Amino acid sequence: MKLSVLGAAKEVGRSAFLVTCDSTNILLDYGVLLKREPVFPLHVRPKDIQAVVLSHAHLDHSGYTPSLFLSSSSNVSVLGTPPTFELSQLLIEDMIKISGLYLPFEYLDLVNMINHCVNLNFREKHHINDVNITLHESGHVIGGASVIVEHNGKRIFYTGDINTRGSKLLRPADLDLPEIDLLIIESTYSQTDQMPREESERNLLDFAYEIVEQGGTLFIPAFSVERAQEIATVLKTHNFKYKVAMDGMALKVNEIMLKYTSYLRDPEIFRKAVSEAEWVRGWHRRKKLVKEAGVIISPAGMLVGGSAVFYMQEIAHDPKNGIAIVSYQGEGTPGRTLMDKKIVTYDGKITKCLAKIRQFEFSGHNSRRELFEILDRIKGNPQVLTVHGDGNSCIKFAEEIKEKYGFDAKAPSQADVIELV
Ligand SMILES: [Zn+2]
Ligand SMILES: [Zn+2]
Repeated sequence: MKLSVLGAAKEVGRSAFLVTCDSTNILLDYGVLLKREPVFPLHVRPKDIQAVVLSHAHLDHSGYTPSLFLSSSSNVSVLGTPPTFELSQLLIEDMIKISGLYLPFEYLDLVNMINHCVNLNFREKHHINDVNITLHESGHVIGGASVIVEHNGKRIFYTGDINTRGSKLLRPADLDLPEIDLLIIESTYSQTDQMPREESERNLLDFAYEIVEQGGTLFIPAFSVERAQEIATVLKTHNFKYKVAMDGMALKVNEIMLKYTSYLRDPEIFRKAVSEAEWVRGWHRRKKLVKEAGVIISPAGMLVGGSAVFYMQEIAHDPKNGIAIVSYQGEGTPGRTLMDKKIVTYDGKITKCLAKIRQFEFSGHNSRRELFEILDRIKGNPQVLTVHGDGNSCIKFAEEIKEKYGFDAKAPSQADVIELV
C-alpha cells in the first residue's frame, strides 16, 4: 500500500490523497484551494481511480471532485454520507456560479458526479476489490467523517477535519479505532490554543444583549454550513430573548440539515433554533430588518459576497450596531480588512465602520491540546503525516509528535509518496 500526497501539504486547502493498493486506486478527498482563482490538487486520471471518499462537504475537501466526471463514461464511485453529498452539491453549485470561468468542469459534470454517489453509514465496512473503507464520525460538520483504509493487514487513518470535543450541534469525533500504521492528521490549530467554547458562547451572548438592548442590530457573518446554525443554536440554548434572523445560503443548509437530524447531537434544540428564527426572504424585508433591534446571521462568513455584503454596509454606519466575527477570516478578504482596520471595503469604496466589532472563537477544528489527545489515543506505532495547516503548523507539529511519541512524523510536500511496508 502506498500513499501519494496530492494537496493540503503545508497549506489549508485542496485536500487530496491517493491510496494505491496493488491495482486499486482510491482518493481520499479531492478539494480546491480557494483563492481569488481556485487552485487545484495534483492531477489523476479518472480511469485509474476506482473511488473517491469525501470526508465532508467543505470545498477544500470536495470541490474538485466533479473534474473526475468530465467524461460520461467515468466509473468512479463517490463514497460518503448523504448529508455530505447534498451539502457538497450545494457548495459546488455555488462555486460554479461564482468562479465558473476558472473551473475545468461545469454543472453537468457535477450532476454526473452526484449520480455516482454511494451512501455509507458510519462504522460500516465498504469493500472495493480487496480494500476496506470505513467512515468514523468526525464531529466537524454534519455528516463529516474520518476515514480508515485497510488492505493486506495495514491500516491508514485519515482524520479529515476533526473535532473531538463536539459542539452544540454535533457529537464528538469517534476515536474508537483499531491499530494504525499511517496516520494523516489535520494540523490547522496545532500551534494555537483556543479559548474554551463556554467562554466564547458567554462572551457572544453578552455582546448580543449589549447591542440589542441599546436598540442596535447585531450582524453575525457566518459560513453557511454549520457555523450559521451553530450560532443560532448557541443563542437558543442560552434562551436569548430577542429576535434572531437567518439569511442567504444558510437557509438552504437549514433545510438540508432538517432532513438529517439523526446526525445531530440534539435534534430538538436545532429544530427549535432554526424554526423560531426568522428566515429572511427578499430585499423588502432585508431593508427593514437592518433598522430593527435584533440579531442577523448571514453568509458569506468572510464577507466576500451574498447578503452579508448588504448587511455589513448598512450595519457599519451606526455606532449603536455591532458586528460579531465568528468565522475564520482569510488574508485579503473584506472580513479580515474589517477586523484589522475597522473599514468596510466594497466595490472599490472604503468607509469607516462605526459599529462595534468583536471577534469570537467558534472553530469546528480541534485545538492544539485536543490534537495531541488524538495522538495519546492512537494505538500502534504509526508513521504520521501532518497536513491541512500552514507551513509552520504542519512542520512544528510533526517535530513535536516525533519528540513526544517517537513516531516517524513529517510534514509532507506535495507529490511525496509514502510506502507502507
Ligand atoms: Zn472542513
Ligand atoms: Zn478543511
